[in-house]
Amino acid sequence: MEDIFRFADELGPARIIHVHNPVVNLKGVLVVDNVAVGPSIGGLRIAPDVSTEECFRLARGMTLKNAAAGIAHGGGKSVLYGDPRMPLAQKERLVRSFACALRDIQDYIFGPDMGTDETCMAWVKDEIGRAVGLPREIGGIPLDEVGATGWGIRHVAHAALRHRDFQIAGARVAIQGFGAVGKHAARFLARDGAVLVAASDSGGTLHDPQGLDVEALIGLKAAGKSVCDYAGGRKLGADAVIDVECDIWIPAARPDVIREDNVRRLRTKLVIQGANIPFTLGAEQYLHENGVLCVPDFIANAGGVICAAMEYRGATQSAAFAAIKEKLRANTEQVLARSRREAILPRAAAMALAVERVRHAMSLRRWALY
Ligand code: NAD
Repeated sequence: MEDIFRFADELGPARIIHVHNPVVNLKGVLVVDNVAVGPSIGGLRIAPDVSTEECFRLARGMTLKNAAAGIAHGGGKSVLYGDPRMPLAQKERLVRSFACALRDIQDYIFGPDMGTDETCMAWVKDEIGRAVGLPREIGGIPLDEVGATGWGIRHVAHAALRHRDFQIAGARVAIQGFGAVGKHAARFLARDGAVLVAASDSGGTLHDPQGLDVEALIGLKAAGKSVCDYAGGRKLGADAVIDVECDIWIPAARPDVIREDNVRRLRTKLVIQGANIPFTLGAEQYLHENGVLCVPDFIANAGGVICAAMEYRGATQSAAFAAIKEKLRANTEQVLARSRREAILPRAAAMALAVERVRHAMSLRRWALY
């Protein structure tokens, strides 16, 4: 017999709910992992190959990410089986029906993820009143449009530079992936006097040691073009951004782009992980041993989740940006100080911080007495 408690450990999961509605061909899973810190926030993913195990791992990721970000929310995640490109009317029926089935699960708040967007969140909000990542018209803060995660990266850079021997002004920045995260990080850092020396997208790498015009690049991307359509600079292959000499290297594209086999190519002093799991653990270990500071993803790219938590409270964009600044500066400082003090990887320090916050919150719950 299948062991239905096979994921159980000292943190969770609190609940796993399987939903089936044959009338609309709905099959979905919700995992509420740990809600000691507060009601869980986590995305709704639609994909043909999701599983309960994937849902649990993503929910656990949210428990730790939200705790590390310092927001009063636990971790959860939900998945729906289906092709995300299905006809819109069918998608709406599925999402609305899934939301209705989970109406009473008050400690889970829906957010967007792969296969869902702000329109899906509007349907969920309409059904049950609990969703983040909403359209602006109904109280949402469109985080990719305003650059919440890039704004966070700016403040992580400021905090991390207290542990380096150079300033933001004049620092050479290279960005892998000039999308929602990368372009806004470039914009905010350039405003502080940093010099963007390289940017890449799936079309290739653009390199100019003298500096690139960030606004011109953002204009190109808005017009649906590649950074390589820029008038000046050298055009190289997409992978070449790894070799660019710089002070700050920001991965903002895909997972596992830096591994044990290519980490030696990096020529930088500071890495700020905008993408999720862009480096393997071995690559992070190598950088740590060679004096390159590497701020891990779930500290560095938490601007988005902080923005979502603020949106849920009805905050304005400027209040959300103030919270991102305050939390990410404090978290980065705490993680890097602990990493130095205990001679551990920044990722290990961040993980320890997150688990401690969750454990402490658990100890404050009434059932901790029994
Ligand atoms: P996006 O789709 O807007 O941008 C991704 C960019 O990467 C695009 O410009 C694309 O051309 C480029 N790219 C793809 N493959 C590449 C390659 N091999 N080499 C160089 N560039 C490549 O996505 P995004 O929202 O900016 O997200 C980027 C990463 O950040 C993802 O890992 C995502 O999970 C993570 N993330 C995003 C947010 C957010 O707020 N959007 C928050 C936290 C983490």
